[in-house]
Amino acid sequence: MELNGVHASPVSDNALQILQERYLLKDLLDNCLESPGEMFMRVAKWVAKAEEKWGDLSLVKKWTMEFNNAMVSLKFLPNSPTLMNAGRKKGQLSACFVLPVEDSLPDIFSTLKLMAMIQQKGGGTGFNFSHLRPEKANLKNTGGWASGPIGFMKIFDAASGQIKQAGRRRGANMGILDIDHPDIELFISCKRNFTSLKNFNISVGVTDKFMLAVERKKDWFLTHPQSHEIVKTVNASDLWRNIAQNAWDCGDPGVVFLDTINRQNPLLSLGKIEATNPCGEVPLLPFEACNLGSINLSKFVSRKKVDWEALMKMVHLAIRFLDDIIEVNYYLQSEVKDISLANRKIGLGVMGWADMLVKLNIPYDSNEAVELASQIMKFIRDNSREASTNLAKERGCFPNWPKSNHFPHRPLRNATLNSIAPTGSISIIADTSSSIEPFFALAFQRKNVLNNHSLISINNQFLDFLYENQYPVTEILEKVLANGSTQDVKILPPEIRRIYKISEEISPEWHLKHQAAFQKYIDNAVSKTINLPESSTVEEVEKTFFHAWKLQTKGITIFRNVKGMKKVIEKGITV
Ligand code: UDP
Repeated sequence: MELNGVHASPVSDNALQILQERYLLKDLLDNCLESPGEMFMRVAKWVAKAEEKWGDLSLVKKWTMEFNNAMVSLKFLPNSPTLMNAGRKKGQLSACFVLPVEDSLPDIFSTLKLMAMIQQKGGGTGFNFSHLRPEKANLKNTGGWASGPIGFMKIFDAASGQIKQAGRRRGANMGILDIDHPDIELFISCKRNFTSLKNFNISVGVTDKFMLAVERKKDWFLTHPQSHEIVKTVNASDLWRNIAQNAWDCGDPGVVFLDTINRQNPLLSLGKIEATNPCGEVPLLPFEACNLGSINLSKFVSRKKVDWEALMKMVHLAIRFLDDIIEVNYYLQSEVKDISLANRKIGLGVMGWADMLVKLNIPYDSNEAVELASQIMKFIRDNSREASTNLAKERGCFPNWPKSNHFPHRPLRNATLNSIAPTGSISIIADTSSSIEPFFALAFQRKNVLNNHSLISINNQFLDFLYENQYPVTEILEKVLANGSTQDVKILPPEIRRIYKISEEISPEWHLKHQAAFQKYIDNAVSKTINLPESSTVEEVEKTFFHAWKLQTKGITIFRNVKGMKKVIEKGITV
């Protein structure tokens, strides 16, 4: 347990354990061959190698040191596959992929093969299954019946379950089905029993046309994806209610707003985006890969103020780092390589938002927090653009730039720049709150999904506060460990309990306001779980989903805190 925030190692005890289990290089007998510090240097050296391509060799050392410092200080971390695989043979460094699913058996199984290979190397995959003919449709070649999208999803799910990503990461998938597919009703309820499709997050792909049909309580047509014949007519608001009911029951499905996504698709000329990566933060074209990285906001507070100057420098460095990754990345297949190099998408985001707010003394559920969220993300967006434009001047724009909506006014090295990832693992490594989420709990047992070991996690700032103010630490922690919350610890003053509210104590409106405030300045998307109290109703879920569409978020996932449901743990995948 960490008592005063001081460590000889650059990382906390919890982080060290996770790094030893899954990230550090090992020999055949499972002995670690490197320390966390050496891991960061391995990554920095590998990524800075890309700089050799663009000029002054003497600068490679400078960038190696800068990249290393950013990681060792835990101010910036790239997504897990980069930390795990940089410098390894055939090291795949991206976390996010979308793969096409076409309506033919050979195509489906070649996608399944690529999925298996991507997941084996720590990447997550997203699919839209809407091109598949519905369950029980006739098959021309054999005269039999089609399995339909859900039948094939079960095959993908079983394969993911077996791969378990070389024991280092669980296979994560996003499965999307469009709202007008004939099997949509089956899809909406396909995760109800909690036992099927465990390696999938599922979302319904909805359009503005459908949302307007819901608003006006109109009929909605389910159409065959190939013949375009109407197979069934349903009432749009009944279908919408059905989505909300299932999300209320079990957290799935979520919703992705496809028109909102495509309004901001910079490469619409190449095709509409139909799917996202597993946690929803990166909408991608088929075969595209994306590298993510997150700035730890809690490290950018100085004397109770945001350190804008330092943040600006870190954004510029991080964009360079992520662009360099594209050069030294290993791509499993030429389709993935070609489109990833042609579009050069990256996703720089943040973690440690709740920790930053505590340092600034701002409650999560306050207008001040939401305004700061916008201000910070706009600042990161503007500086990301500037950094990518500078790189474009040095290295050239991304090859598909003339086909993009950035052309001709904004020269950019990367088709997209920002994204808010869940940071499920890297926030543990950085010892900070995950992503833009409020604290999950102030003290809790963290279960490792791979080996079932438990670790106790205590919020550092909270612990420091208790010690500094001479509270009875053990007594308070015992209470807090029971349910993660401070709200019943009456010995603490109300203003402290307000600052340290946990996820389930923040009302859904505030969760959504944070998501929308960040999304406004993000060209990719935001991964966020909207927590609802157990007592919330299906109507409230419907309203929350509807509000998310109005606020122009790209998708939404809810979690109703039903005791024993443990959905967050399932959803968080790496938690
Ligand atoms: N991901 C995955 N398996 C996992 C966790 C994550 O494939 O067990 C992928 C998935 O695409 C997800 C992305 O990595 O959307 C980023 O997740 P997160 O930020 O939690 O990853 P981290 O870098 O913290 O491990």
